[in-house]
Amino acid sequence: MNKYYKQFLLDAERVSFDLKHRKTIKFNMSKYDAAVKNGFLRYIDKEKAKESTGYKKRRALKQLDKSLLQFEEKAIANGINVHWAIDRKEGLSIISNILREKDAKMVVKMKSMTTEEIELNDFIIEKGIDSVETDLGEFIVQVAGEKPYHIVTPAMHKSKKDVNELFARLFDMDENSTAEEMTEFVRKLLRKKFTSAEVGITGANFIIADIGGVAITENEGNGILSTSFPKTHIVIAGIEKIIPSLEDLGSFWPVLSAHGTGQSITVYNTIFTGSKRDNEQYGPEEMHVILLDNGRTDILNQEVQSDVLACIRCGACLNACPVYHNIGGYTYNNTYGGPIGSVISPFFNSFEKSAHLSYACTICGKCTEVCPQKIDIHVLLLHNRKEDIERFGKMRIFTLAMSFYKLFTLNVKLFDFGFIGIKNFFVKYFAKNIFGKKRSLAPFKTSFREQYINNKNLKKS
Ligand code: SF4
Repeated sequence: MNKYYKQFLLDAERVSFDLKHRKTIKFNMSKYDAAVKNGFLRYIDKEKAKESTGYKKRRALKQLDKSLLQFEEKAIANGINVHWAIDRKEGLSIISNILREKDAKMVVKMKSMTTEEIELNDFIIEKGIDSVETDLGEFIVQVAGEKPYHIVTPAMHKSKKDVNELFARLFDMDENSTAEEMTEFVRKLLRKKFTSAEVGITGANFIIADIGGVAITENEGNGILSTSFPKTHIVIAGIEKIIPSLEDLGSFWPVLSAHGTGQSITVYNTIFTGSKRDNEQYGPEEMHVILLDNGRTDILNQEVQSDVLACIRCGACLNACPVYHNIGGYTYNNTYGGPIGSVISPFFNSFEKSAHLSYACTICGKCTEVCPQKIDIHVLLLHNRKEDIERFGKMRIFTLAMSFYKLFTLNVKLFDFGFIGIKNFFVKYFAKNIFGKKRSLAPFKTSFREQYINNKNLKKS
């Protein structure tokens, strides 16, 4: 067990027994569950819609090279500057050059996990440039000095009271302010930032090959404002965000919103096809799109795990995962948490640092069941485990224990021999902490086989 795995176990135990955390997550997840139930009502056949978007995304991924080149050609024709970044370093260097050229003093940012992946905010701030998150949840975690807790709802771990306390400490607001008052305060504060920033940075929910455009979807209008006032708009998008055509958005947008937030459709949906035209009054004068690889082609080269690139980052698998509910988003210690994060993080961040996340899974399959793209997430996690063992070798004690387990379970007579004594001996000395130090296993009294036979006899008599 390496140091990353050990730290993960320590954090997981700490958070699992934090009752305040559990209460907040339970409350916020219950809101999500109720909204999603409603969001699905619009579908006559939800499974068909999922099959359709899953098929379209995989078709685009199969010809990723061609689709990306088609996007590039069309985007350039639209006047967009297209850049290719192999990794975080190259992505940051491209952004740095643009900021320098524009003599930027302030950047406004829309929520984007791709920018989190390359740690863009820290990079910009280190350069002495102000970088402001404009999504409310993202703003809250930024001013709290934290990272996003969840890929769709970055401040999910905070209750209203937590935000009240934070705003009272940082902005001298009344601790009893309503949610509306706090939102209004942030709105006013951000207005000034939107109008004075030289550069606006967004991610992309989809990049559209046939029109050379970028689609974003949001609920607060901060994305539109981040791209309307600043003179330069930079988009940073993972290369897997490609979809074949504009027509496909008609099914992707509602599927994403229904699974992400339970809405029939998100409030603001925008397609960018370049900077402002001569006859337009508002909009940026320059637009850049950075196509980021950062480990994605490594995933594409995997025979099985490549399917994870069909993900549209709706966050549904995080919300469904019993492990995520208990250990929370920060324990994963990676940009992407939950089931999807456990599959992709080893490829983004090395198997050494993140392969242990594949074991943070009960293989209940709930993530696979809810995924709008029909990705077999729990199966991919098993493949990551296999790869981990192939790369770093098996644990000797584990192998030995499994050999004994195999020997006993394949032989009922042996298994039943001295049954209770042997089982209790193993539980007491080898497995007493299997569910953590705070839970103990009850001693065995009779075997399942014995109980089954007794029950059967009881029914007969
Ligand atoms: S893996 Fe599926 S459920 Fe999870 S974020 Fe991606 S699309 Fe959503």
